[in-house]
Amino acid sequence: TLPKFVVELGERFADAGYELALVGGPVRDMFLGSSVTDLDFTTDAVPETIQQILTGWAHAQWDIGAAFGTIGARYGDWTVEITTYRDEQYDPDSRKPEVVFGTELLEDLRRRDFTVNAMALRLPDFELVDPFGGIKALVAGVLSTPGTPQQSFSDDPLRMMRAARFAAQLGVTVSDDVAAAMTDMAQRIEIISAERVREELVKLMIADTPRRGLDLLVASGIADVVLPELPAMRQASDATHRHKDVYEHSLQVMENAIEREAHYVEAPNFVLRFAALMHDIGKPKTRRFEPNGKVTFRHHDVVGAKLVAKRMRELRFDKGSTKAVARLVELHMRFYGYGEGEWTDSAVRRYVTDAGDLVAHLHALTRSDVTTQNKRKARRLATAYDDLESRIEQLAEEEELAAIRPDLDGKQIMELLDI
Ligand code: ATP
Ligand code: MG
Repeated sequence: TLPKFVVELGERFADAGYELALVGGPVRDMFLGSSVTDLDFTTDAVPETIQQILTGWAHAQWDIGAAFGTIGARYGDWTVEITTYRDEQYDPDSRKPEVVFGTELLEDLRRRDFTVNAMALRLPDFELVDPFGGIKALVAGVLSTPGTPQQSFSDDPLRMMRAARFAAQLGVTVSDDVAAAMTDMAQRIEIISAERVREELVKLMIADTPRRGLDLLVASGIADVVLPELPAMRQASDATHRHKDVYEHSLQVMENAIEREAHYVEAPNFVLRFAALMHDIGKPKTRRFEPNGKVTFRHHDVVGAKLVAKRMRELRFDKGSTKAVARLVELHMRFYGYGEGEWTDSAVRRYVTDAGDLVAHLHALTRSDVTTQNKRKARRLATAYDDLESRIEQLAEEEELAAIRPDLDGKQIMELLDI
């Protein structure tokens, strides 16, 4: 539901002689029945006028980027963003669209990414403006573009990443012509800055169904540009097909981790999900055929940790997430390396020390990595991990006790207290 002040704000703009409409995400989310968190508005008023109209009403207001024509404001607990109608002109080789203010709501909607996002509610009467069939597309669960997808993606290639992100977030598919344009134009994602690509990738990963978005990135060839390690896993099954497909296994492990994450860590958890997706990326590169035809592995966990860190640096991830994901990839085999039930106290302690503040993540990841069809084997591994977890807890309790117990024996205490 929408806060009542939305009507009031619409009247304020109308009284000043301007249009105001709720647009994009919140309109889409209302029709999906999901909760509205961001309130995005669009208007024919230019930024300075928006600021004048908001003065005396908003509890705070700020300039999000005068060049982009967006003004932010706070009203009670709500944050609103009001943007002047746009007519954009694109330089096909530039990374960022040049902004030209427009005067028509229709033109503003026409330049938006997908028809489900190209809907508006005119205020203060809530008249629905849906010139491109956004509601119909939402009901059908399809992403299509207001104009031709070729033109749209050529204007702003980031929209192809956004398509994958929305597929993951909203559980929709892309129309055939959008899919075809993504495949044709995948290479153009190159001109988009690493930061903007990363932002969409993170949103995709923490969505309800990341697999939908990832499959789309891989099928279109966009993943070959932004995350080449992922499609490389598809070729990882060897010639005799005796090994499981690493790509499918990785998606499975990611989905297992999603099911477990709320139990172990704060959900949704990018670090855990991404580590789960990438945990085996060292495999394809490290697989080597010996002269006698035997397949051998170098430590694919160590190689994988390096590869994932390199990719994350290229995507301009923060140091903390990069280190965390790399560490998880590096440690994901540790439990299996020890075999079952052979853990000494010092091995348990080392496991905890090496994982540091990622212990809970590592529990979730290691358990998720069991994708065997062999039920008995799966149960045996789960039991072994249960044992490890309880020994870790036990050690932690003992250490806590040791920490509060004074380092003195009874005699020393009596001496100290002069008893
Ligand atoms: P969320 O806020 O959950 O990320 P959203 O749909 O609000 O989802 P935003 O990135 O906040 O997505 O963008 C707000 C609106 O602006 C979108 O609904 C869309 O209409 C438009 N938009 C954003 N980015 C683009 C783009 N690259 N090309 C065209 N339109 C865009
Ligand atoms: Mg938004």
